[in-house]
Amino acid sequence: MERVVYYIEGDGIGPEITKAGLPVLDAAVAKAYGGAHKLVWKEILAGEKAFKETGEHLPKATLETLKGADLAIKGPLGTPVGKGFRSLNVALRQIFDLYACIRPIKYFPGIESPVKRPELVDMIIFRENTEDVYAGIEWAAGTPEARKLAAFLRDELGANISLDAGIGIKPMTEKGCKRLIDRAIKHALAQQKSSVTLVHKGNIMKYTEGAFRAWGYDLAKEKYADSLMTEAESLDGGTKPVVIKDRIADAMFQAVLRRPTEFSVIATTNLNGDYLSDALAAQVGGLGLAPGVNKSDTLALYEPTHGTAPSYVGKDTANPGSLILSGTMMLEDIGWHEAAALIHGSVAKAIAAKRVTPDLARQITGSTEVGCQEFGEILSANL
Ligand code: NAP
Repeated sequence: MERVVYYIEGDGIGPEITKAGLPVLDAAVAKAYGGAHKLVWKEILAGEKAFKETGEHLPKATLETLKGADLAIKGPLGTPVGKGFRSLNVALRQIFDLYACIRPIKYFPGIESPVKRPELVDMIIFRENTEDVYAGIEWAAGTPEARKLAAFLRDELGANISLDAGIGIKPMTEKGCKRLIDRAIKHALAQQKSSVTLVHKGNIMKYTEGAFRAWGYDLAKEKYADSLMTEAESLDGGTKPVVIKDRIADAMFQAVLRRPTEFSVIATTNLNGDYLSDALAAQVGGLGLAPGVNKSDTLALYEPTHGTAPSYVGKDTANPGSLILSGTMMLEDIGWHEAAALIHGSVAKAIAAKRVTPDLARQITGSTEVGCQEFGEILSANL
């Protein structure tokens, strides 16, 4: 069987990790199925390369192609801070309603991570991907729009706000929260995970983050009463398969460091999920091996958790692992489990053999540094 996969190289280290990474996926499929299955790669443009070739960062042709697609993979896309165009990543997530950003975090033995027991970290983050302060509804301080909105909030709604404020809006809906949490719960049930933790900052942002928590518990009660129980019910001796619990975001950052085994599936809001993804990746060795996917109900866009890593660009030193492991998530999703397992084994073998890219070499005593392309070749050879 052939599966068409659209790919975006991305900016910064994107082209390097794509060049090193896609052949590893091909080699794994070839090794597992001997030609019976094949990935058919088709490039689409976004970011700097698209701008150079078409004058647009997100060309219409790319959007048209993705409309009819079910599988795509992308490298990171750069976004200017505090000025310039809006994030292309956020735009893609909103245009295609890629509401679930799913990021597994698991340890590969041999990496000297910053924590003592990294092998205890086995979590998967479901991050709401279209709402929250990432919705892009914001106005710069001093603009007529910001002043008008501030005046309305002050004069009509009694808010204590300065007319000089920059303003960002944090919309969150019941539908948006529940469909994300639903995916997290379904994953926990299907994969026999012990808990789903709702991570929020609802003590302060009561009607957005607090509502996320409340809608999560409502959903659990309405739809999953037979299989989910609260923490309190569990402590009372309940025996349902999955516990649904919640943690306030700041406490969660401490808890995942100190008691990682208490957490398995995490459902959280957009900004919290972005922060927590990088922090958890650090616990198992960093962003070089941090995969992810953005999903709607029809399209899956796989991408590493990391960005364009400017300090690594053009040096052949970036780790292509997160892109390769994102592709491995894709292989699992389409049911090509044998190929996915080969890649996991191959990464484990490269780490055990201590021939790794510099980000990992810094965390493995006695290791030999290899470049981005060579690491890809090692992974193919190891399969
Ligand atoms: P970043 O690109 O994720 O890089 C942060 C650090 O993570 C790097 O300095 C490096 O750490 C490490 N790292 C990331 N990827 C790595 C890899 N493949 N191999 C080895 N180490 C890796 O974050 P940033 O520097 O804050 O952001 C740069 C740009 O990327 C920004 O324009 C941002 O908007 C964009 N971004 C895009 C996406 C996306 O496309 N989805 C996501 C996040 C950020 P050390 O220097 O410690 O080795």
